[in-house]
Amino acid sequence: MTLQQAQLATTATAAKTQIADKVAELVAAGNSAPTVGLVPTMGALHDGHGALFEQARAENDLVVASVFVNPLQFDRDEDYEHYPRDLDADMELVTRYGGDIVFAPDTQHMYPGYPDAPQIRVSAGQMGRVFEGASRPGHFDGVCTVVAKLWNILMPPAPATLRSYFGQKDAQQLAIVTRLAQDLNIDVDIRPVDLVRAPSGLALSSRNVRLDDHGMEKALGLSQALHYLADQVTNGERVDIDAARDIIRSHEHVELDYLEIVDPATLAPLSEELLARPLAHEALALVAARVPPVRLIDNMLLAP
Ligand code: AMP
Repeated sequence: MTLQQAQLATTATAAKTQIADKVAELVAAGNSAPTVGLVPTMGALHDGHGALFEQARAENDLVVASVFVNPLQFDRDEDYEHYPRDLDADMELVTRYGGDIVFAPDTQHMYPGYPDAPQIRVSAGQMGRVFEGASRPGHFDGVCTVVAKLWNILMPPAPATLRSYFGQKDAQQLAIVTRLAQDLNIDVDIRPVDLVRAPSGLALSSRNVRLDDHGMEKALGLSQALHYLADQVTNGERVDIDAARDIIRSHEHVELDYLEIVDPATLAPLSEELLARPLAHEALALVAARVPPVRLIDNMLLAP
């Protein structure tokens, strides 16, 4: 089967027109409720992103990817400048996964007048100040601002509806964008995509390439600690967070930043009282640690 090359749109108007045309075609062909699946990304796509495209392709009539390196979500200029950019390769990957449209605007198109714009930005509130937000101030405000703009630009015309795909890998981001849609009444269905792990258990991340064999071994402490907690919850036992933290710390040179059990929707840490008994409700274990030379995050849903 030859795959149709994904169409490129570099302006909001072009993207809206392409989406509207495809929706009109689907309606004319008898589809009374077409769905559009959006996969927002910063590009430099690899097969770890593939899970999002596969799920979006399986669940929707039209698949749109956005590729935009968002300056608002970087806390260091240097990181932003060095972020890998390769639109041709991204177009190829999206095509390979059956995506239809790629929206890839430049910075001045997204934020005319940047860096003096945008004046009006979205705040992620308290959810954006904890965990990853504590070590990257302003990061989640930048994520919310760009995601709200992408939804507004790429919202399909009725009768089509929009679904937006986010990886469970970034659990805090997923919880925050879910709240963003609710709190600002944006008509988008948030679809979480399961975290993709290497056979060793390590969560796939573009940062893993910087780990040598030793680092890979040490990094396994994160997923081992999460599995340890998940097993306790499945077995109806009380969770032992301290023992889980020790699993990570037992690896030399690994610095644990946090390992906490939180409410998956609000990210509020569970109270001592709730943790003193076997968990009765689903909870989320979040972990971050420095495994030199990188900082890794991982998480797992704990289901009784
Ligand atoms: P990025 O381009 O790095 O901002 O990532 C785009 C999307 O891919 C985000 O929703 C991430 O959560 C998701 N993603 C990255 N790595 C993984 C993974 N190992 N498993 C599932 N989703 C992922």
